[in-house]
Amino acid sequence: STPATSTTTRQVKLDKESELRIEVGMEIPLRLRLLTGTAEIFGTELPPEIWLSFPPRHKFAVFTWYGATIEMDGITETDYTADETPMVSYVNVHAVLEGRRNHAKASSSTDPDSSQGPRVIVVGPTDSGKSTLSKMLLSWAAKQGWKPTFVDLDIGQGSITIPGCIAATPIEMPIDPVEGIPLEMPLVYFFGHTTPSLNVDLYKVLVKELSQILERQFAGNAESRAAGMVINTMGWIEGVGYEEKLCSMLKDVLKNKPNVDVVKLQKSGGVVSRNTKFRQKTRSYRIREYFYGLANDLSPHSNIANFSDLFVYKIGGGPQAPRSALPIGAEPAADPTRLVLVNINRDLLHLVLAVSFAKEPDQIISSNVAGFIYITDIDIQRKKITYLAPSAGELPSRFLIVGSLTWLET
Ligand code: ADP
Repeated sequence: STPATSTTTRQVKLDKESELRIEVGMEIPLRLRLLTGTAEIFGTELPPEIWLSFPPRHKFAVFTWYGATIEMDGITETDYTADETPMVSYVNVHAVLEGRRNHAKASSSTDPDSSQGPRVIVVGPTDSGKSTLSKMLLSWAAKQGWKPTFVDLDIGQGSITIPGCIAATPIEMPIDPVEGIPLEMPLVYFFGHTTPSLNVDLYKVLVKELSQILERQFAGNAESRAAGMVINTMGWIEGVGYEEKLCSMLKDVLKNKPNVDVVKLQKSGGVVSRNTKFRQKTRSYRIREYFYGLANDLSPHSNIANFSDLFVYKIGGGPQAPRSALPIGAEPAADPTRLVLVNINRDLLHLVLAVSFAKEPDQIISSNVAGFIYITDIDIQRKKITYLAPSAGELPSRFLIVGSLTWLET
């Protein structure tokens, strides 16, 4: 590693229960290390003295329960310390969940109810710190030896895989503050759009598919069943003022459900608001990261296939019933889960497609996906598609799904 220059290196002393909030500059990474005491980043403890390198634009906080000294090397967009944080209330939630996990573990695994650990769903507006809270709860649980399942239903800014997907993965270790969630074998369903409004019915169908698979996995795995899950959602709140109403609305809707608690938590003052443009940028970086790696450490492969080698499907669209079969004046509604074979043409250029695990087309909606490809050229004359894939060689399947997810490689 490069030696730290004295002009950009500085130390920050943090009092107990305070945090250092950082936005890394736009161009160069920031190096940071823990000099004394103990500190964590979103629930994951920092190793003493080891330099960590945070990529440009990364936003995070280093929090300490008992006091710490942090050393930074590099330029930040902003950095400041804050001693007012909601961390105590967050860790109290963790403690309650921990109690429920222990209870689940201790009960007979033949009783499906009592052997079920806590299932937490984090809801709230965009930029309220939902993903961050999810990560903390998962990392604290993992630190104590549990393997909770992380379910990410946020198709706008996913933490597990690229945007436009819903996904789940077990968290076996505290989440790496730089690398994020390991991309080993997540269970991923491709929605194909970054906003649910483009096909709400399909979104619901996919959530249901994912939940059925997870229920099946939990049924056969007492350990992950007891550890429970943390479910992150998208900011589904619309309109000013709805934020205040959300909690009471949920309490009202869920009042007759036993075993459901609604807990209102404060948003951290450190959560950074991101505008539409920034959000688009982050999406684009996520897709780039999928193909090239966070530190350009992956080498994706440009492949060429014949039109006839691949079957590209779109989900939704196309009339359900012929107009003649409908009552007079009624418009034919598009079937949201209809599978449509797409003609391969230049409309596919710059789109990100998912590679389905389906063996037959009619299994596409209920199948998870193996990964993604990016269409870089369509040669109509020679009937050839050029695409970027994580590796060379044949795709795991000839069935591809297309939505509206685009990417402009920069
Ligand atoms: P949401 O999931 O509700 O949209 P996030 O949890 O993704 O919100 O938070 C938005 C941004 O704010 C993220 O980049 C996150 O890393 C950052 N952030 C969250 N909490 C803090 C904090 N305490 N200090 C600094 N940055 C934070």
